[in-house]
Amino acid sequence: MKKIIIVGGGVAGMQAALTLKALGQEPLILEKSDRLGGKLNRWDRLFPTQTPAGEVLEPCLKAVAEAGIAVQYGAQAEAVDPDGRGVVLTDGTRIEADGVVIASGFELFDARLKEEYGYCIYDNVLTSADLEERFKTHQVLTSRGEKPQRVAILHCVGSRDEKVNQNHCSRVCCITGVKQAMELRQLYPDCEVFNFYMDMRMFAEGYEEIYRESQEKYHVNHIRGRISEVSQTHEGRLLLKTEDTLIGRPMRMEVDLLILLVGMCAGSSNPSLAVSGGLALRSSGFFDPLNPFAGNLRSNMKNLFFAGTATAPKNVSEAMNDGVAAAWQIYRTLTQPAAQQ
Ligand SMILES: Cc1cc2nc3c(=O)[nH]c(=O)nc-3n(C[C@H](O)[C@H](O)[C@H](O)COP(=O)(O)OP(=O)(O)OC[C@H]3O[C@@H](n4cnc5c(N)ncnc54)[C@H](O)[C@@H]3O)c2cc1C
Ligand code: SF4
Repeated sequence: MKKIIIVGGGVAGMQAALTLKALGQEPLILEKSDRLGGKLNRWDRLFPTQTPAGEVLEPCLKAVAEAGIAVQYGAQAEAVDPDGRGVVLTDGTRIEADGVVIASGFELFDARLKEEYGYCIYDNVLTSADLEERFKTHQVLTSRGEKPQRVAILHCVGSRDEKVNQNHCSRVCCITGVKQAMELRQLYPDCEVFNFYMDMRMFAEGYEEIYRESQEKYHVNHIRGRISEVSQTHEGRLLLKTEDTLIGRPMRMEVDLLILLVGMCAGSSNPSLAVSGGLALRSSGFFDPLNPFAGNLRSNMKNLFFAGTATAPKNVSEAMNDGVAAAWQIYRTLTQPAAQQ
């Protein structure tokens, strides 16, 4: 039986642990926070189906508990051996293993770095993550406690942006913005919603249909354009300076709430794990797998594998599938070295 450390107990890490346990191995999840589930703990309803996040998370949590998988909470991995034989935590504790799956996920872009959008300056500027938390309470009110009459949603905040050194596309924020626009219209049918996008990237099954539904059924206004500046009016509304780039016309618009679709950035532990383990990083800071095709969960180092958003922005189903696949790959590598690849 092989002991395999899983760094990170999000959906990818949990799927890896469940698969390894089912294969008769001994997984240990190291989770830096005090709970499993990663970002899904923060989301309300998930695209593409508007399924409550809890309906995806709870069965995983139950399965991990029922399988008796060992979990160490408050355990932040800081370093990993280049041959996967152990992990060192931030408190200096060393844990031995036969191999490691890094499923340490992603970080949300810090919207304060785009000062021009007024996050943490104006109360009525929220991020997409903040909005998910408001949806959980079934109320999305302005700072004055009023129902919003008009909301703007801005795409690509902290993604595709050289100025903040985040050149990659975060992939899931376009569909998040469309989903959130529809949810706002469901909650407040009189509220106008404007989505300001650079490109609408509907890459997965069902996404294009949701985009169409947002227009035909929910009458969401999608405007190709950027917001250049946000200020606050005397009445406490937000004044947006923007441009519709399709017709080349500058615009000014007053809204009650501005939602910033923050990007998915590389995990904060990636640099220290990469340096200690000799692991390759992409220019985006995400881990760089051995090759982009058959080896996309295998690292450049022995007995070290990846799962989920540790390597790139992904949706939940992609992250969960990665967990299963990474478990199989490390299992084969450790138990049948001749048969691997
Ligand atoms: C605003 C927003 C909304 C989204 N909504 C949807 C949606 O509706 N549908 C959908 O399919 N996808 C959605 N996504 C994407 C979804 O959140 C991810 O696909 C999913 O969270 C990836 O899971 P993960 O396990 O790879 O990473 P995470 O969820 O980030 O989990 C990683 C875990 O690792 C832990 N960890 C990190 N570093 C360490 C370390 N060094 N040591 C130990 N533990 C560590 C973290 O605490 C965390 O528990 C959304 C993303 C965003 C930004
Ligand atoms: S998915 Fe859409 S909003 Fe997100 S970075 Fe890519 S283009 Fe921008």
